[in-house]
Amino acid sequence: MNVSEIFYSIQGEGVEIGLPTVFVRLFACDLRCSWCDTMYAVEGRDFKKMTVGEVQSAITGFGCRRVCITGGEPLIQKDEAGELAGILIRDGYRVVLETSGHKMPPPVFWTGNCVISMDCKCPGSGMEERMDFGLFQKLRPQDQLKFVIADEADYEYAKRILSEYTITANIIFQPAAGQGLGWLTERVIGDNLERVRVLPQLHKLVWGDTRGV
Ligand code: SF4
Repeated sequence: MNVSEIFYSIQGEGVEIGLPTVFVRLFACDLRCSWCDTMYAVEGRDFKKMTVGEVQSAITGFGCRRVCITGGEPLIQKDEAGELAGILIRDGYRVVLETSGHKMPPPVFWTGNCVISMDCKCPGSGMEERMDFGLFQKLRPQDQLKFVIADEADYEYAKRILSEYTITANIIFQPAAGQGLGWLTERVIGDNLERVRVLPQLHKLVWGDTRGV
């Protein structure tokens, strides 16, 4: 596996926010979001080659049974990511897969002790045309669909997607680059979007925009 980093922190995003979690960040991505905050896992050659067994051993060393497989886009290495997830789920771990809404996760991620955290890229990302809306409708109630909102156009776009598609997953609105949390909260309340959770990136509030947290 091409691994950007493995570290132990708190979950900074989504419905498991605040829970201690081991992160496995896989290298490479086929999207280029304008506000990407992990470009070190997208371009360059800053990664380490590890076997699935070596990654599993590194995870075990932290002693935490919650793992987030993220990127980059982890499904670029879907066979290895799926193999790792299968081993972890077999061993009683809870697994969160963070993926970008344009690739079908392998079957192992659709099992009980796994949460699929999928992004719907809004126009501000420049990647909205790459999204597969059919995937959003496959997400289960235990999963989450996250919209990173950069501006009013993104907000209106997210509202339109939610009104046009039947989505049973948890819905997260997250301000881009940590800006506009108050504005976004007021818009959601004003429009009475009662299904939407407005969440910051908690790890950035704690440590700032730093790698490895
Ligand atoms: S999908 Fe994620 S890793 Fe890839 S460019 Fe967008 S924000 Fe960065």
